[in-house]
Amino acid sequence: MEKLKNILSNIDRRGYKAYKQLQGSYNFRNFTLYIDHVQGDPFASPSKLRIRVPQDKAGFSHDLFSNTSRKTALQDYITRAFNKSIKKESKGCSGTGRSGIIEIDCGKQEIIQRTSCIINNEYVEVRFYAGLPAIGRRILGFQCQAMLTEEIPKIAEESLFYKNLDKSKVKRFIEVCEDQDHLRNLLKEYKLVSFVKNGSILPRRSGVSDMPLHVSKSVVFKSPPELEVTLKAPNIGEVKGMGIPQGITVIIGGGFHGKTTLLSAIERGIYNHIPDDGREYVVTIDSAVKIRAEEGRNIQKVDISSFISNLPFGKNTVDFSTSNASGSTSQAANIIEALECGAKLLLLDEDTSATNFLIRDEIMQKIVPKNKEPITPFIDQVRNMYGRYRTSTILVMGGSGDYFEVADTVLFMDCYLPCLVTDKAKKVINSRRDRRKRESPDNFGDITERIPIPSSINPYKGRKKKIKSRGLDNIIFGVESIDLSSVEQIVDPSQVNAISDIILYALSKNYINGKNTLHEILGKTSGDIKEYGLDIISSFKNQHPGSYALPRIFEVAAALNRLRSLKVIQKRN
Ligand code: ADP
Ligand code: MG
Repeated sequence: MEKLKNILSNIDRRGYKAYKQLQGSYNFRNFTLYIDHVQGDPFASPSKLRIRVPQDKAGFSHDLFSNTSRKTALQDYITRAFNKSIKKESKGCSGTGRSGIIEIDCGKQEIIQRTSCIINNEYVEVRFYAGLPAIGRRILGFQCQAMLTEEIPKIAEESLFYKNLDKSKVKRFIEVCEDQDHLRNLLKEYKLVSFVKNGSILPRRSGVSDMPLHVSKSVVFKSPPELEVTLKAPNIGEVKGMGIPQGITVIIGGGFHGKTTLLSAIERGIYNHIPDDGREYVVTIDSAVKIRAEEGRNIQKVDISSFISNLPFGKNTVDFSTSNASGSTSQAANIIEALECGAKLLLLDEDTSATNFLIRDEIMQKIVPKNKEPITPFIDQVRNMYGRYRTSTILVMGGSGDYFEVADTVLFMDCYLPCLVTDKAKKVINSRRDRRKRESPDNFGDITERIPIPSSINPYKGRKKKIKSRGLDNIIFGVESIDLSSVEQIVDPSQVNAISDIILYALSKNYINGKNTLHEILGKTSGDIKEYGLDIISSFKNQHPGSYALPRIFEVAAALNRLRSLKVIQKRN
């Protein structure tokens, strides 16, 4: 630390480049500070730093991170604690550009594996960013001294030593996370696809906030008696709530009665949530994929013939490509692409679906004959799909009762609470005289896997690699821009950051080699991540990997599928 202080007083007021000599490691009283990378100027992305505290000083006992759930939770907790201490101890921006800021990549309502913190039997390490202070391009050495040798030790002291953390909060955080993983793993055994605990708070504060609506304004969730199940988790013990069975579930109800809110909570149930989120005991099988219409998207050789055939001018739908999909073709492709990666639950909402993809009623059947309608609506394939692939569906549909015919479970949302009305719905539909005809062959078609062609995934713009993720919605990939705004289960910008580097990693490992299918490529990358950690996808070897949060293979596939330059060959068996 004295060495660091000396350098900083020596380079005070010198040109910014002199900061470069800071690169290296410095022993502080009870931790080591690593300066991995020094930014080029005060406006550039901030410098990359790490703090490593040996475990004999940090004092986190092994049982706090004894399995993957607990470890992810503890790492996440420490990141949040570090972030909170930054807010408290850092004076923040002072000087030019990003001078004086300290930042760590921190999650929100979800607990997701990230690269901001690593814990093991030897040490705790946080990876963070600091804007080295300057005025213009002139180094503010003494200000930097204050930041690195006063603020940072205080932040570390408060957040990286077990004795200084709120032990009951740490315990709860870890246990809630472990319970969620446990419950999620139980679903299959109970033949369920989702579980919503009684007492959950599903609505969010607003359309732009993911925080829970205040309890006083919320109707607390309660399962209909017929669907109530009791599951057992290791920490909380027995929990009661609604179990949604495998098969076809339709959620009906009047407008503004909470249908979409329930479906959104189910859709987010693939992630663990923080205590007091309100959805921390809403769990969904991890291969659940939200499906929506996405007009204008690019589609590359997807076999959508189970849903669409006989297009005008004889356009082929066995290897359907377009650079401008319609509502229905985009929704069909989204389904087939999800099945290609092994989705076992599809989630659809009428609010974001193409009507003609979902339904075609008996009146329409009389006026527009089958041979004039390319679309086999989802209603006529949803059971076939379940029959052949065991992929369940949960569908929100307040606008048509046609789906009663094919539903196993019908949930009626009434003033934000679900009731089971399957029998009543079946009775009504069966007593109808003028019923719609089924329009599908008895089989859902094959899922044709696709092999990406490496040269079509090009991260270069001219002679330089250009990859940048922007927020939740966008990746700049070479000369292309990937639009992820309709990929609704991405919840964290750091997942988008990881997605782009996973694609690069797959290229560099030669997993994208013109032989592996998309599903195989993603299997290999996630295998590597499981084995070596999420750090592995970073191309930086001498500096910390920065800010990644783990995406699922479905979201990585979604990005590749939306890369407009992508070319594939279909794998025919
Ligand atoms: P629907 O899809 O049935 O039209 P939404 O799910 O969009 O209805 O919900 C309508 C409104 O009600 C939203 O503003 C939502 O936040 C609110 N809401 C949903 N569930 C609850 C609840 N359990 N308690 C209080 N408000 C809720
Ligand atoms: Mg709705």
